Amino acid sequence: MFRAIRFILIAAVLLALAWWIGTVPGTLTAHSGNYTVQTSVPAAVLILVVIVLILTLLLRLIGHVRRAPGGIGSWRSNKRLKQGDIALQRGIVALAAGDAATAQAAAVQSRKLLGDTPLVLLLAAESARLSGKPEQAKAAFQALTGHKDMAFLGHRGLLRHAVEGGDHDIAAIHALAAEDAYPGSAWLQTQRLDIALKKHDFRAALALASAPAEIAALATAAANEAAYGADALRYAKQAIKAAPGFAPAIAAYAQALRKTRRDRAAKKTLLKGWAAAPHPLIATAYLAHFSSPIERAQAAAELAKTAPGSPESELLLSQTSLDAQLTGEAKRHANAAIQAGLTDRRPFTVLASLDPTPETAAAASAAPAPKWVCGNCSAETSDWTAICPVCGKAGTMLWRTSPSKALAVTEGSALLPAG
Ligand SMILES: [Zn+2]
Repeated sequence: MFRAIRFILIAAVLLALAWWIGTVPGTLTAHSGNYTVQTSVPAAVLILVVIVLILTLLLRLIGHVRRAPGGIGSWRSNKRLKQGDIALQRGIVALAAGDAATAQAAAVQSRKLLGDTPLVLLLAAESARLSGKPEQAKAAFQALTGHKDMAFLGHRGLLRHAVEGGDHDIAAIHALAAEDAYPGSAWLQTQRLDIALKKHDFRAALALASAPAEIAALATAAANEAAYGADALRYAKQAIKAAPGFAPAIAAYAQALRKTRRDRAAKKTLLKGWAAAPHPLIATAYLAHFSSPIERAQAAAELAKTAPGSPESELLLSQTSLDAQLTGEAKRHANAAIQAGLTDRRPFTVLASLDPTPETAAAASAAPAPKWVCGNCSAETSDWTAICPVCGKAGTMLWRTSPSKALAVTEGSALLPAG
């Protein structure tokens, strides 16, 4: 309604204007050189209007023409983007298929078409890696770290590169930077733990470990190497909490207590530990402060009293008695250990040293002594270690006794008379 009224009003004004111009009297004369043009005022006004209209149209046309090259440019750039995207997609598929040559070619093409965009850099880095060109890959990953949203992928690539090159310090730096770029990544957590384990950085590894066996092992190792007693105590407590009865942790706790001048508490800890689960490591820690063989034999008797009749108690008594030249006691306890079910060579070795016959010697070498065996890769060590020296896992070393149980018991029992 409003538009209709406006249209009628404008039409009325224009009509009135045209009528007024039509009624204006007089003529207009223009001279140019020898030419003279004479016309009425209404005709002159009409010509002026026509000239203005033509000029407006011309200016518009020029504007279109000027914009035309931009239009062509934009079409061209769209085409480049499209071709670049196709090259990028082809490269990513080639990467997934493990086709290094195609992936590298696609990386070169997409880089030419799209420039160093984050995705192009990622393709360039991964394809160089796949093609066995680590320096090229490293440069592309380094460039990628400059892109805020893709920095994680850049540091991730550089981390892998450093790990492969065995440079764990550089790997640790990139792991921290990657953590900053993308906090809380589970993959990164595992990587950081692996790096800390390779560096034997027990404290750093402990902060990243989650399995109780890992925590117990790493906290024990951290306690053993702690410079201050308070730190040693804290780590040893953490180890025992993660795995109560874990002999290396009990020994470490006793050592930490001694470090802080709490000898009685240390002794009590070891006695309690032996009573719960006798283990040679606890005996070693308990006897460490006794120097003469007789004192050691007496201390062993004290310890063995907490787990009377247990195979390890009897073995300990036989070994310390032998050292103290109490041969009768040594023989008696060695036989008691065998009767109690100890099947490895240790009690037989005591007997063989007392009664060296071919039979005792054979028995002494029959069943292997218990040792620490990795539950992950089956590597064996005589001393406990927090980290397996072969597979590098933490908390996998298990105390394993002889597998040939039945044979050793029969042979030992038949061969060796009670002392
Ligand atoms: Zn292992």
